[in-house]
Amino acid sequence: MKDYTAEVHGCHEFDATGALTTPVYLSATFRHPAFRQSTGYDYSRVANPTRSDFEKAIALLEGGKRAWALSSGMAAINLVFALCAPGDHVLLPEDLYGGTVRLANDIYSRYGIDFEYIDMRDTSLVEAKMRDTTKMIFIETPSNPMMFITDIRAFAAVAHEHGSLLVADNTFLSPHAQKPLALGADIVVESATKYLCGHNDVICGTLAVRDADSDLAQRIELLVKSEGPNLSPMDSWLMLRSLKTLGVRVERHAENARAIAAWLLTRPEVTEVYYPGLADHPGRALHESQSTGYGGMISFKVKTSAIAQNVLAHLRLIAFAESLGGVESLLTYPLVQTHAEMPRELIARTGLDDRLLRLSVGLEDVEDLKEDLAQALEKAARA
Ligand SMILES: *Cc1c(COP(=O)(O)O)cnc(C)c1O
Repeated sequence: MKDYTAEVHGCHEFDATGALTTPVYLSATFRHPAFRQSTGYDYSRVANPTRSDFEKAIALLEGGKRAWALSSGMAAINLVFALCAPGDHVLLPEDLYGGTVRLANDIYSRYGIDFEYIDMRDTSLVEAKMRDTTKMIFIETPSNPMMFITDIRAFAAVAHEHGSLLVADNTFLSPHAQKPLALGADIVVESATKYLCGHNDVICGTLAVRDADSDLAQRIELLVKSEGPNLSPMDSWLMLRSLKTLGVRVERHAENARAIAAWLLTRPEVTEVYYPGLADHPGRALHESQSTGYGGMISFKVKTSAIAQNVLAHLRLIAFAESLGGVESLLTYPLVQTHAEMPRELIARTGLDDRLLRLSVGLEDVEDLKEDLAQALEKAARA
């Protein structure tokens, strides 16, 4: 089944009423037909029919066999780190979502897990950093917010040579534009709050694996069942609804972003634009070899930090807000917003600085977006 079809239909099976969409099963528990018998549903922490439909659709779309729908992207990444044991070593990228750094440094480090941050644009570096204890390599491509590209196939090969897992945070593209499991990753996580939801109204995470019965899948199932981080039936239904338009949204986000990125390059206030769809992006060819779109995220630098901060005050249409991937365009200031708790030495290594802005290009008319950015940049530069 092709993506557009999987997104619209998922694994929907018609019930006796013929309902075209999955009902919201707001039931905490399920009546057993008889002693030692189950309908397949016993208790909604373990499985719920609305959530199961969403999970099956995600597994299909990610090209995996099993997926879990969780209460946030961080809940998904938490499950990934919970696969580690004391003494394990984990490689993380230098440029990544700040919440992942907080989870690693402030929570899991205290349980004896050793996190090391490396430049994942350089494939040869990862080989040198592998240890006997390396449990997993965790990647983000494109990375947040510097838009670095990591070679998924090459990283999977290195991980597997050393008996390690490759985990990909695929949030910036969604499975419509990139399928890490098909390129060798063992686990793919999404902050489904972003493109999968697409409307800035649900917090959700997903996690998918290639095989349904592997030790890895069983371990994750045990964690989900025991820790209870699942998505509610109502949110699962909203996510099923969102999924139906994922393809048209993601492609239009990318189309708008390409136009805005090219236009930003012409602005006198702008000094650098980071977008994998631009001809001079150093990771462009690699990105094209492992994805089917450039995404809707652009980072750019302006001449001074004062301009960067003033732009935020002059926006009219675009909202100064964290998050990304929704229909509404959002502009954020990573140094103080999404990456506030990031260790300074890491930030210094990636080029993230006080002149950087990150734009999540929404689905508004591109001319209106340019007009808003133009007036905000002009006012900010004059101030
Ligand atoms: C937002 C985000 C997360 C965290 O997801 P939540 O749904 O906010 O918990 C993780 N990774 C990336 C790349 C993100 O953008």
